[in-house]
Amino acid sequence: MDMHIKRIFDKQGPIVIAGPCSAESESQVLETARELAHQNIDLFRSGIWKPRTRPNSFEGVGVIGLGWLKRVKEETGLKVTTEVANTSHVFEALKAGIDVLWLGARTTVNPFAVQEVADALKGVDIPVMVKNPINPDLQLWIGAIERLYNAGITRIAAVHRGFSSHEQTRYRNVPRWQIAIDLRSKFPDLEIFCDNSHICGRRDILQEVAQKALNLNFDGVMTEVHPTPDKAWSDAQQQITPSQFKDLMSSLVIRKITTDNAEYQHHIEHLRHEIDELDNDIMNLLANRMKIAERIGEYKKRNNIAILQTGRWNEILETAVKQGKAKGLSEEFVKNFFKAIHDESINYQERVMNA
Ligand code: PEP
Ligand code: MN
Repeated sequence: MDMHIKRIFDKQGPIVIAGPCSAESESQVLETARELAHQNIDLFRSGIWKPRTRPNSFEGVGVIGLGWLKRVKEETGLKVTTEVANTSHVFEALKAGIDVLWLGARTTVNPFAVQEVADALKGVDIPVMVKNPINPDLQLWIGAIERLYNAGITRIAAVHRGFSSHEQTRYRNVPRWQIAIDLRSKFPDLEIFCDNSHICGRRDILQEVAQKALNLNFDGVMTEVHPTPDKAWSDAQQQITPSQFKDLMSSLVIRKITTDNAEYQHHIEHLRHEIDELDNDIMNLLANRMKIAERIGEYKKRNNIAILQTGRWNEILETAVKQGKAKGLSEEFVKNFFKAIHDESINYQERVMNA
């Protein structure tokens, strides 16, 4: 689908979206907003309706909080954003003059819900940010953007907030940078922000993740900021104080997209050439490996042996991790890489078996 998405923010340099996970009281919202206004953020966030994994958690203050956001606008001049997930949220948010809306991860994952929001927005010219779906499915993310676009929304941005994983990791939601990069490749003009708070789920790695996003040319960050994070009614472990946020932002190194410097150009081209050659070698090696997998498949077929040999596979993985470690490659990377290779080897063997 050919889309002409417009940018939400008219600004070079990282766009800064910050505010509490949830609006809890008028004073909490206003206090946070005042402090963030001093830091010249671009957009103030606050959840009014909170999608919670389990019932009986705090599910947001509801409509009353919209009035608090209105006061934020009046008092600080900040633009405000909140999450909407159904027709009545949209209706109330528009009525309250919310400047930007966002779709949460649990909404993007559900085409019925996305369509409902899109339908409610027909004929309204409001910017919408679309968080990635909770599962790593680029098509769902694109689908949500398309549904909004088809409803006439032209200012759309994406927010990478990480993905659920069944594996225990250091993140609350694992960042899949490649998925965001793929989205960017498909829609080169689409703004992409990094919600480091929901990726991390903890404070100590917020900086690292935000910097990584800027290194990858993300357009900005969305971070949860609360006056007393430990006492927050939702997502307490990941929220930081306005002053911690200030330190975080000033620690970030802003990268240029490129430079005209001839020496830089020359050197980078040389390095890229080396990478291209190595990638070519990797492709050849992989193709050869698959050919051998095919021969193994034929041989197993003749002898009526099952494809998956768990012992052998564990051995391969163990050796690979050990070798990788010795060469400074992370266990996570080596495992993912070899799992993908093993998967494809099985496909090759299966094709032979079924032939
Ligand atoms: C939030 O931004 O507070 C939120 C609920 O985020 P997500 O949809 O990414 O879980
Ligand atoms: Mn939150």
